[in-house]
Amino acid sequence: MVKVVKVDVAIVGAGPAGSTAAEHAALKGASVLILEKRPQVGSPVRCGEFMPAVDEMKGILPNATELDSIFDIPNYLHSLTTDVIRIYSPKMRHWDVPFGGYTTDRDLFDQYLASRAVKAGAELRTGLECTGVKGSVVSTPEMDIEAKVVIGADGPLSMVGKNLGYTRSTDLCPAVTLQVKGDFEPVPEMYFGTVAPGGYAWVLPKKGFANVGLGVARRFSKMPVGEYFDKFLKLKGIDSTDQPMGKFVPMSGPIKRTVIGNSLLVGDAAGQVMAVNGGGIPIALICGRIAGQAASNAVLKGLPLTAYEARWRREVYKPLRTAVHTKWLANTCFGSQWRLEMAMSLLGQRRINKLIRCKPVLP
Ligand SMILES: Cc1cc2nc3c(=O)[nH]c(=O)nc-3n(C[C@H](O)[C@H](O)[C@H](O)COP(=O)(O)OP(=O)(O)OC[C@H]3O[C@@H](n4cnc5c(N)ncnc54)[C@H](O)[C@@H]3O)c2cc1C
Repeated sequence: MVKVVKVDVAIVGAGPAGSTAAEHAALKGASVLILEKRPQVGSPVRCGEFMPAVDEMKGILPNATELDSIFDIPNYLHSLTTDVIRIYSPKMRHWDVPFGGYTTDRDLFDQYLASRAVKAGAELRTGLECTGVKGSVVSTPEMDIEAKVVIGADGPLSMVGKNLGYTRSTDLCPAVTLQVKGDFEPVPEMYFGTVAPGGYAWVLPKKGFANVGLGVARRFSKMPVGEYFDKFLKLKGIDSTDQPMGKFVPMSGPIKRTVIGNSLLVGDAAGQVMAVNGGGIPIALICGRIAGQAASNAVLKGLPLTAYEARWRREVYKPLRTAVHTKWLANTCFGSQWRLEMAMSLLGQRRINKLIRCKPVLP
């Protein structure tokens, strides 16, 4: 007989979205179980590890609430603080755009968030994969979990989403990253053009390291993402035989519905990413908190779970939608180096500044 465990809230995935949702559901008194298929939360790292400063997030998402506490991340998780991003055009013209942020160690970052969830009372099971979800029952090889609310925080290829009838991002962009030892200039760099068709390549400095990587759009690429990455390493004069780690970034914006019945999706599973730069950690933290609060309100107070959908859309949807429109405009240039060079020159620093902050670039 299959063992059956009953909980208020079952969460699949202990990334930033899942752990934050778990913490906030548990803080309100719900019983919470998080399943993470990887043996160790956050490892291996598949991320550029760049986090915007809280003041930047306040500017990007003016309707979002509780940002000071959401972005109160301890200092040991700030590897290198920066106040400018250097953006390169295909012809290597560059603009230094003021933008505050820091690089982090994503494995430690995710482990910190998971530890907060556990401290709040959630149970975390690592090395346990969800193999399917049907209605309220989450299956694993070890047991079935019967939950009053099921949260899919299982990333861009969300199995929870697939099993429960949600749509998926229509633009999943492959991205890879590698930690490279050395002393790098303390300025995050982003490279556009044939180095990373339809996306960009980056060098994000950390203490004694840099996170080097790139993401591409499949419809503009002529070869596998790994080959673009090898070429980029050569361009930067980086000699490394280590294998980069990769994943998809959902770039078509939030999915249409993020609540169905007694389930919800959050983070990459829901497409909650800034399409102009692929940044998803901040949005996962914000929406994760809203998801956890809504889940516990549904279980403990009988409030509708759709409150989650209404609130995250009120707080962050508009800038995410603007970013999708800007990405769509950019896609008309990505097919031609010349058009992209021209477009970046016309935009200039002032409009690039707006673009990376999810603001409209056209009047
Ligand atoms: C190469 C790359 C670079 C990036 N760089 C940045 C950056 O610099 N800054 C930024 O803000 N964003 C960046 N992003 C995006 C960012 O990583 C994501 O938006 C963010 O991780 C979303 O968090 P999440 O919790 O929704 O999903 P994830 O972090 O993907 O977490 C999902 C978790 O679910 C687990 N899981 C999946 N399926 C199952 C299952 N069936 N059972 C149990 N567990 C499961 C996974 O193991 C994983 O731990 C980058 C993405 C990539 C691919």
